[in-house]
Amino acid sequence: MTGSALAQSPPAGPSTADWDAAVAAVRALPADGRVLLICHVNPDGDALGSMLGCALGLRRIGVRQLQATFPGPPGVAEPFRGLPGLDLLVPAADTWTDPDLVLCFDAASVSRIGDLAGRLDSAGEVVVLDHHASNTRFGRINLVDPYAAATSVVVEGLLDRLDVPIDRDIAECLYVALTTDTGSFRFAMTTPAVHEMAARLLATGIRPEEISRRVFDTRPFGAVRLYGDVLGRAVLEPDAAGGNGLVWTQATLDDLARHGQPAYVLEALIDSVRCTEEADVSCVLKQVAGTEWAVSMRSKGAVDVSRVAVALGGGGHRLAAGFTGRGGAADVIAAIRAELDRVLAGS
Ligand code: AMP
Ligand code: MN
Ligand code: MN
Repeated sequence: MTGSALAQSPPAGPSTADWDAAVAAVRALPADGRVLLICHVNPDGDALGSMLGCALGLRRIGVRQLQATFPGPPGVAEPFRGLPGLDLLVPAADTWTDPDLVLCFDAASVSRIGDLAGRLDSAGEVVVLDHHASNTRFGRINLVDPYAAATSVVVEGLLDRLDVPIDRDIAECLYVALTTDTGSFRFAMTTPAVHEMAARLLATGIRPEEISRRVFDTRPFGAVRLYGDVLGRAVLEPDAAGGNGLVWTQATLDDLARHGQPAYVLEALIDSVRCTEEADVSCVLKQVAGTEWAVSMRSKGAVDVSRVAVALGGGGHRLAAGFTGRGGAADVIAAIRAELDRVLAGS
């Protein structure tokens, strides 16, 4: 390995001292200690599944005062409405302002937890559980493993060290998280250890076919038609991204309104766009407000899209990243094209 490749390798996972500190933080809770669990805005399956699985695990070992939350509008998208532990969700504004312990899930930086960042200063202790290489280690204790396929891998590690028996409900949460971030065991992080973890979770009796159908394979007919419109306007730019090809499309608020659909139905759109054989990089621009776009980016390996996303104010992983774009769709895609060129020129 060359020096520069070494320099770019993400740091190793949590040290024994990190794990010990996190376990001690839980064990040191007073009898009625209040634990606030926070995951990132617009939570995906890893954020919610890791947070709720951990909350249920703590409940199993006698922690009674638990609140789980995330910034932004309360309520979870339809695919997650069957998750165990949803009774622990509390709207962000109603959470304890000075909990004894904060646990933060799947957020690479403090900006991902919005207004809840204030809770980090007033909490008795703060543990960050995450797997983004770009994690800024904003906790007082940081369990960050860039080699983990999902944050739920880190959660399982903590629950194991706390001697929490993994029951069916905890397993379902961790399984949703694991399948979300590995693309149902298709992505590069799908190691033997990932399948071994899946085997442990499945051994509790959870039903993978029911979970997958609910979380990944169900959407309203209106969303099927909406996908038709949005995929029909996809653009292929073979010369972009240094000749590796870029494919992109946009979904507007008008598209959602026309088909009577909520925004969450667009989360899986990138999976249909990224199939494009002729492009390494894929993007979906999802309109959030007039000139605000939630941008999803994927690469098949030629480009580190997290560098593009970070340069544009967001973050993510090497092959899956995102950011908030501002301006018209043409402005946002122009900024992406330019950043792709810059990143490729530097690598
Ligand atoms: P998504 O395309 O929404 O599935 O997001 C892919 C990955 O990009 C996520 O796992 C996050 O790590 C990251 N990500 C997405 N949006 C943002 C954002 N606005 N800021 C920081 N990271 C983001
Ligand atoms: Mn996430
Ligand atoms: Mn994740």
